[in-house]
Amino acid sequence: MLKGKTALVTGSTSGIGLGIATALARQGANIVLNGFGDVQGPRAQVEQAGKAFEIKVGYHGADMSQAGQIEEMMQYAAAEFGRVDILVNNAGIQHVAPVQEFPVEKWDAIIAINLTSAFHTTRLALPAMQKANWGRIINVASVHGLVGSAQKSAYVAAKHGIVGLTKVTALENATSGVTCNAICPGWVLTPLVQKQVDAKAQALGISNEEATKQLLGEKEPSQQFTTPEELGDLAVFLCSPASNNVRGVAWNMDGGWAAQ
Ligand code: NAD
Repeated sequence: MLKGKTALVTGSTSGIGLGIATALARQGANIVLNGFGDVQGPRAQVEQAGKAFEIKVGYHGADMSQAGQIEEMMQYAAAEFGRVDILVNNAGIQHVAPVQEFPVEKWDAIIAINLTSAFHTTRLALPAMQKANWGRIINVASVHGLVGSAQKSAYVAAKHGIVGLTKVTALENATSGVTCNAICPGWVLTPLVQKQVDAKAQALGISNEEATKQLLGEKEPSQQFTTPEELGDLAVFLCSPASNNVRGVAWNMDGGWAAQ
């Protein structure tokens, strides 16, 4: 379905971003990976997923907190792949503390990586999408783009912000073939959440299993994690012709979290 298209997924060396990159590769899209840590493992996984279509896979290690590096990444993608047809703004970090104790540098980093980076990639990707009259921008927000939780001021502010950016980008392109939508997961068991499980287990002196149960029990009525594969399939839907008129939505996949 996506043969000949190129998808750039920020923060795709791990977790949800890797799940989305893999799902798009399975549909035949060329992939530009981004993120820190091991690249060979994720690259091999994505290449394998797109093997039947002989997809091309690239990588750029831009730090999403740095506007200049984001510009270099977008230039690299245009030079190597022609243009970015599908932009998935996924890179994100978390820090947990009450507002009055929240480290200022953590606030700045979360706003930069979880929100401002999406402004930069979007402004740089849009002209080529508009010229081609086809494009898909998918912002990985969170259920925290819809509701708040204590101790997560910067994260909730950034995620509400990216839902706002999603709506404005969708509206400005509403009469064209360029759509912009947000995905809002509840708990997904990735390294980002494992850290929160570990912290809970340590703080309460309980097992990892019990901490996981408590974490889900507090917020997620389904008592189940959403998986990167399920989120990948939602991203594939948002790239399909069936979603041509899906514009500016914030689609939660959260086990009923926001329905409460
Ligand atoms: P993760 O920690 O598994 O992956 C984060 C990815 O972002 C990694 O590839 C990492 O290298 C990359 N990254 C981090 N900082 C970066 C930077 N400065 N520049 C470039 N890349 C950077 O986390 P995840 O759970 O897969 O999270 C992905 C996205 O999903 C985030 O935006 C997160 O807020 C969102 N999300 C996660 C959950 C969850 O429960 N895990 C729920 C809702 C939303």
